[in-house]
Amino acid sequence: MSQVGFIGLGTMGAPMLRNLAGSGAGTIVFDLDAACVRDLAAETGAAPARAASDFAGAEAVVTMLPTSDAVAEALFDWDGGIARHLPAGSVVIDMSSSDPTQTVRLGERLREHGVDLVDAPVSGAVAKATDATLSIMMGADSEAAAERATPIVRTMSAVVFRTGKLGTGHAMKALNNFVAGASTTAACEALIAGERFGLAPETMVQILNASTGQSFVTSNVLGEHVVNGRFASGFGLALYAKDVRIARSLTQAIAHPAPVCEAVSGALDDALDELGNVDHTRAFEYWKDQEA
Ligand code: NAD
Repeated sequence: MSQVGFIGLGTMGAPMLRNLAGSGAGTIVFDLDAACVRDLAAETGAAPARAASDFAGAEAVVTMLPTSDAVAEALFDWDGGIARHLPAGSVVIDMSSSDPTQTVRLGERLREHGVDLVDAPVSGAVAKATDATLSIMMGADSEAAAERATPIVRTMSAVVFRTGKLGTGHAMKALNNFVAGASTTAACEALIAGERFGLAPETMVQILNASTGQSFVTSNVLGEHVVNGRFASGFGLALYAKDVRIARSLTQAIAHPAPVCEAVSGALDDALDELGNVDHTRAFEYWKDQEA
């Protein structure tokens, strides 16, 4: 592997970069937050990018940013845009949870520069980003582009699913988070109702985990972040609400009724309006305080 760019060194990007740099790849890094660039460059040996032209030697650039808009901003606006400096034949790998419709448009824009786009969003939160055991969903319009991206994403996990054409990875990720969001809202509603019937929250979590209501949310999120009041899952409410909004727009685009998706998206958006971008597990407190 020659030089690989990495843009977005936040909660997820930082551990993913550590695994990429630990594989021996030469890395060049950028984030709007100069302090995290400085600290991670010092820790991993990555070169901090000071200008968009610093990416001119990159065979690939990974993006791990909050939204599609942020990805486009980094590639086309920051310092005149990184994209115009990338060598023809290089590949951008968007590992953010982006909007698949915008991903397809971004792919067209990058193609004008001779650069391929691959979408490879991840599931698994910080623990799996750290252990390099994320679930990765890879969409690409050509096998050649997917093959160039594969050794890079495999430094972050061996669990790589090839989902289809460009944008299908991002669509799958949004749909996964809709399912997880439905599980979160349902589990929180159950805890709130159960507590009002006199059930102890800790007992409820134990029973859910030994019963058919068990899920990642009940076995991980409820016990480690909700019932004990820690509220530190590392996944922001704004990001969760954005993901389920993307899933809702996918169901609206095919004009298929999706009442559960509508309800989950509405519940997360309401909590976001009230709480701002706190850890998503704090939505439990907001829902708990609601009057019937
Ligand atoms: P984060 O907010 O912790 O980090 C985002 C980083 O991007 C920040 O360091 C920020 O400074 C930087 N940034 C924002 N706009 C930028 C721009 N225009 N140019 C350069 N840098 C910019 O977010 P995160 O939790 O690491 O999530 C990143 C992506 O991964 C999101 O799309 C999210 O939905 C997805 N995701 C998050 C988790 C999780 O558990 N946190 C899990 C899976 C997927």
